[in-house]
Amino acid sequence: KQKVYLFSEGNKNMKNLLGGKGANLAEMTNLGLPIPQGFIITTEACNDFLHKNLILTEDLKLEIKNNIFKLEKITGKIFGGTNPLLVSVRSGAPISMPGMMDTILNLGLNDDTVEILSIKINSSFAFSIYSRFIEMFSDIVKNIPREKFACIEEELKKKNIDKDNFYRELTKEYKNLYKITLNEDFPQDPEDQLFQCIIAIFNSWNNNRAKIYRKLNDIDENMGTAVNIQEMVFGNLNNNSGTGVAFTRNPATGENDIFGEYLINAQGEDIVAGIRTPLPISHMKETMPSIYEEFLAYGKQLENHYKEMQDIEFTIENGKLFILQTRNGKRSPYAGIKMAVAMVKENLISKEEAIMRINPKDITILLHGSFSQESLNKEMPLGKGLAGSAGIAVGKIVLRSEDVVDPDSILVRTETSPEDLSGMSIANGILTAKGGLTSHGAVVARSMGKCCVAGCPTLTINLETNKIKIGNMSLKEGEYISIDGYSGNIYKGKLKIDLSDEIEEFYEILNWSKSIKKLSVRMNADTPEDCQRGLRYFAEGVGLCRTEHMFFKTNRIWPMREMIVSDTLEERKSSLEKLKPYQKNDFIEIFKILKEKPVNIRLLDPPLHEFLPTTPEELQKLSKLMKISMAELKYRLQKLEEHNPMLGHRGCRLAVTYPEIYLMQCEAIIEAALEVKKLNINPNIEIMIPLVATFKEFQFIKNKIEENLMNLYPNIKDINYKIGTMIELPRTCLIANKLSKEADFFSFGTNDLTQTTFGISRDDSGKFIEEYKEHHILEKSPFESVDIEGVGELMKIAVDSTRKENPNFKIGICGEQGGDPKTIEYCHNLNLNYVSCSGFRIPIAILAAAQSNI
Ligand code: PEP
Ligand code: MG
Repeated sequence: KQKVYLFSEGNKNMKNLLGGKGANLAEMTNLGLPIPQGFIITTEACNDFLHKNLILTEDLKLEIKNNIFKLEKITGKIFGGTNPLLVSVRSGAPISMPGMMDTILNLGLNDDTVEILSIKINSSFAFSIYSRFIEMFSDIVKNIPREKFACIEEELKKKNIDKDNFYRELTKEYKNLYKITLNEDFPQDPEDQLFQCIIAIFNSWNNNRAKIYRKLNDIDENMGTAVNIQEMVFGNLNNNSGTGVAFTRNPATGENDIFGEYLINAQGEDIVAGIRTPLPISHMKETMPSIYEEFLAYGKQLENHYKEMQDIEFTIENGKLFILQTRNGKRSPYAGIKMAVAMVKENLISKEEAIMRINPKDITILLHGSFSQESLNKEMPLGKGLAGSAGIAVGKIVLRSEDVVDPDSILVRTETSPEDLSGMSIANGILTAKGGLTSHGAVVARSMGKCCVAGCPTLTINLETNKIKIGNMSLKEGEYISIDGYSGNIYKGKLKIDLSDEIEEFYEILNWSKSIKKLSVRMNADTPEDCQRGLRYFAEGVGLCRTEHMFFKTNRIWPMREMIVSDTLEERKSSLEKLKPYQKNDFIEIFKILKEKPVNIRLLDPPLHEFLPTTPEELQKLSKLMKISMAELKYRLQKLEEHNPMLGHRGCRLAVTYPEIYLMQCEAIIEAALEVKKLNINPNIEIMIPLVATFKEFQFIKNKIEENLMNLYPNIKDINYKIGTMIELPRTCLIANKLSKEADFFSFGTNDLTQTTFGISRDDSGKFIEEYKEHHILEKSPFESVDIEGVGELMKIAVDSTRKENPNFKIGICGEQGGDPKTIEYCHNLNLNYVSCSGFRIPIAILAAAQSNI
């Protein structure tokens, strides 16, 4: 099977085999763009290598040699010959992992070819690239630390050697270091050099930073990397040469304007490493106008071809432009949404494509907002860097990646390297003193959706005193700062945050999603304020109003406590009477806000222990209110204690013992409905009974409720209400069909359903679930995303058996997983009527529901 492909033999659809970079180089070659030619060793060859003895097989070597021969023909140059062919060797995984793996430049140089180039070009250039090759090769292939080379260079600089001889001397010393360290000469045979580099790049798939990156980004471990071997072009040949990176649109703000940086007389690595600060690409318009125009045209051609913002690397060699790489550019969530909408308007993509491009996670990030205008007006920035990645962050200054322990931090570094990855992933934001917008820090922050301010020139970091200085202001590690990834501004202290959901494009995407999705999206809302917020995000009703949450407020908690510790029916009824007006008023408010939209009210399911008094003062107060002795109160509290409150006297079991509780609640609901009827509002009410396990249990409670309502309200027929049940126990899933004969609707309570299916306490899972994830026993907590194999299967049994006889039976989900995109997709496939989740997650749910239907 073919393991090596010339660029002209591939195309963009071969990413899995040729890696992202290789597939795009192939595609661009076929589009006729000026691409330095080369060949690609496939990811399959990498996997063979990694799984079989870590050696290059003779077959593979032969295939590589054949391709070198073909490349020699194409370029008219010879590997190790008098017109020497020099190549770069770069990794290229199917999914881009910026900065994670290795690159070697100028391969093909040896003691002979360097002399040829010396004559052809000049000796300073020839030896500078040779020394660079030795340094890269030594570091990547032989693990000799780069610092050692940097030290040699520093020392040599002190000797004041003339420019022509400096690099010749440097090369000599580098070769010396190589020889002393390894007890062997620097390899002279280009083929041998190449094979060693290929091995090193295959192995780099498994280096630590690549592993962490894959873990953070859910990238398959078994993908492997391809290796790209490409003819070198030199941006560091003279001042008519240069190199740059540009995005066809602004990756931080989404504006449709070319955006990037370049350096004159430099190689690409200089930009990525953030060592020299590059110039904005717009500058090229003046210095190299015709190349600038040519580049703009290629940018447009590539963007129209890929229908995506492109991130393009280019090199100019002695006045001739070459494209070295293109890929879909990483962008901030903010820019992602702006661009997707703009591209629909430019007729580049369809609405559906725009929706599919947005990661639901990005919406969360977007909702993190911006600093309030008010605090921006008040505060003077301490300094300003580049707006590396949109968003804002507030946190404590932390100076070392390994010291970032919680998100309440801003990682402040001179520049970041892949070693900082884990700290970056935890911190709220990243601030660097050096590096441009395409430096490691900015690129990685954008891909993480984290706020980053990069390259603040007035920032200095002192790792000895653990202090930083921004301009004249000195700050200690641990002090709070606020950074603004839209403007690049840095502030002292904690700035106030405003939610930035107001961008037009965000609503546009939501509107398109609404018209495409099939599932309804409701909110879990317990208060009128919750309801208002959810509606702003287009919630289509309330999917769960947990009535016990309505009693947490100060003035209500006392009658609630009285009710819980009541010993007699009279006592309980009297405290219920006190609670009823609160309930009724809340429902009136909610009905007024929701109008005809469905409101699902879940009857009391109190975690009793959360309500009970604990401090001596609270106990005193309750005993006084209830006019009982402390001893009596303590005795009653003791009786209420349970070994397993989650499996105890809760949910509808409470109503079997004390039906008066649910009766009061239903009275409050109906009275509220009758009240708003006077305002011409006809609420759509769903009364929901929690934790039902058996048919008779449901029937018993429902009959009591209906009987009571019929007795009390002669015109109840005018009220649009239904009585249904939650499905939150495995047994309930199995009897769903039978229950559906008595219940008007179902809603999956996947919090309890997960708890009871796994037998894992939802309140205690945090203690061990991380280890389950670490060992890949579980990929995600089942409390975050429905476990499709088990819990999902139970849901399926319930849905299928019910809908078989009653295809229109209304079923939703209201557990916390209802806002998780993967769960939403599953619910869509199960044909549920709606998902319900907390207000902030509604936009995510709307988007995910639309994506499920595309
Ligand atoms: C559930 O169990 O999924 C549910 C929504 O109810 P609660 O979280 O209130 O137990
Ligand atoms: Mg529950």
